[in-house]
Amino acid sequence: IRGRDKFLRQYNTYIEEGRIIPEAPKYKGRWRELFGNDNPIYIEIGTGRGQFISQHAVQNPEINYIGIELEYLLLGRVGHKAEVAGAGKNLIVTPADASRLTDFFEVGEVQRIYLNFSDPWPKNRHTPRRLTHSNFLKSYREVLDAHGEVHFKTDNRPLFEFSLNSFAEDDWKLSKITLDLHNSEWAEGNIMTEYEQKFSEQGVPINRLEARALP
Ligand code: SAM
Repeated sequence: IRGRDKFLRQYNTYIEEGRIIPEAPKYKGRWRELFGNDNPIYIEIGTGRGQFISQHAVQNPEINYIGIELEYLLLGRVGHKAEVAGAGKNLIVTPADASRLTDFFEVGEVQRIYLNFSDPWPKNRHTPRRLTHSNFLKSYREVLDAHGEVHFKTDNRPLFEFSLNSFAEDDWKLSKITLDLHNSEWAEGNIMTEYEQKFSEQGVPINRLEARALP
C-alpha cells in the first residue's frame, strides 16, 4: 500500500479516538454497550476505503454501523473518510477476517449485513473463499436476528449467479433482485462504494439482491 506510514499513523490515531476497535472478539455480545444504546446494528464486510459505510452512518444516526476489513491499513483511510464525512459515534470499524464472524457477534446480535463488491475468487478451488459461500451464509444466519437481512451488490455476474444459487440452496428468501441497479426502481437513495463508482463509470451494470434467512 502506498503511503503506508501515513495510514499507520492514522490507524493508531483512530484507535485512540475509539473509531477503530482492534480486538473485535472482546465485544462479542457487548457491541450495544460500546455504542451506549440499543439501536440496530448493521455491519459491512470488506469496507474497502469506507465511502459506503461513512455516508450511511451520517444519513442514519439511529443505526449503529460496524465495518469489518481484513486489510487493517485501509482502516486508517476509512477513519479519515468517516471524519471528513462527519460521521458520529454510530460508526466503528474493526480489522478482522469475516470467516471468524461468530467469534465477534453473539447469536442474533446483528440486524443487517452489507456485502459490497466482494472479491469474486473465480477459480473453482477458491469457491469457499467467496463471501456468499454456504459456510459464510451459515455464520450470517447465526449472527443475524430473525428479521435480519443480507444486502449484496456486485459488478461480477458469475459471482452474482453463484450467490443466487448459494442463498437459495441455504433457504434464504430473495427479494429486490436486479441485474442493473442504477437503472432500476432501487436506484434512488443508493449509496455508491468506491468500486461501484469505478465500474459504473466504465458502464458496467451493478447486480443487487436482498436476502432473509427462512427459519
Ligand atoms: N466494499 C468496497 C468497495 O465496494 O469499494 C471494497 C471492495 S474490495 C474488492 C473487497 C474488500 O473486502 C477488500 O478491501 C478486502 O480486503 C476485503 N475482504 C475480503 N475478504 C474479507 C474477509 N474475509 N473479511 C473482511 N474483509 C475482507
